[in-house]
Amino acid sequence: MDWKAMSASQNIVDFSALPLGFDPSFSLPPGPALNICVQLQNAILEHRLRPGMKLTEEEVGESFNSSRSIARTALQALAHTGLVQTRKNRGAYVAKPTVEDAREVFEARVLIEPEIAWHAAGKASDKDLKRLEAHIEAEHLALKSNDVGKALAYSGIFHIVIADIAGHSVYSNIVQSLITQSSLIIALYWNHLETACEDHSHNILVDAFRDKDGDAAREIMRKHLLDLHAGLNLKRKPETDQSLAQVLAGI
Ligand SMILES: [Zn+2]
Repeated sequence: MDWKAMSASQNIVDFSALPLGFDPSFSLPPGPALNICVQLQNAILEHRLRPGMKLTEEEVGESFNSSRSIARTALQALAHTGLVQTRKNRGAYVAKPTVEDAREVFEARVLIEPEIAWHAAGKASDKDLKRLEAHIEAEHLALKSNDVGKALAYSGIFHIVIADIAGHSVYSNIVQSLITQSSLIIALYWNHLETACEDHSHNILVDAFRDKDGDAAREIMRKHLLDLHAGLNLKRKPETDQSLAQVLAGI
């Protein structure tokens, strides 16, 4: 699904048209493979499955009473989202972006997104402000219903919408790629995801856009991104002594 096109068409909150879970594009029909995808996605987002943990087709299949081929389909669909990585002849693992990956992504965001926010402040129409407010509201509703994956998706789309408002297609494409990578990093390494989403920076940004205050928007965005990066816990967490089957049995 094209987040940018989808966001551009949203002026009211319509959950049926917006992403379910962390990734809006599990291109699987309803059925056992999709069910496994959603359950594994939640287990990863809730940190029950650790970055780097091996996901074998056998164990995944057995844990969900499915065949290996259904497990393989689910793992491949998860690999498309970036949450799972596959290595040739070595199977699938929960993705494990490094400290260096995180630093590079956030350095790039801090470099370009404050400028985008400055541009957007000069261009945001009343309709744009409503789009941004709808995303903030959707994020809060998702959090209220404990759907952290969906809240994270809305939080990321908010930044993509700002790039769209700025009306700069090169910036837009870069931001879209950076958001995908940083959503994964935040999902895996933020200690308390709900506090990341409760950040009020998005509301303050909308206020700066309403006031057409580019300098304020630039500074708010810069601080927001530095705070996000600082809130990550990239230290290696102790490995769980539970096996994959034991973790999945608790799902
Ligand atoms: Zn944000």
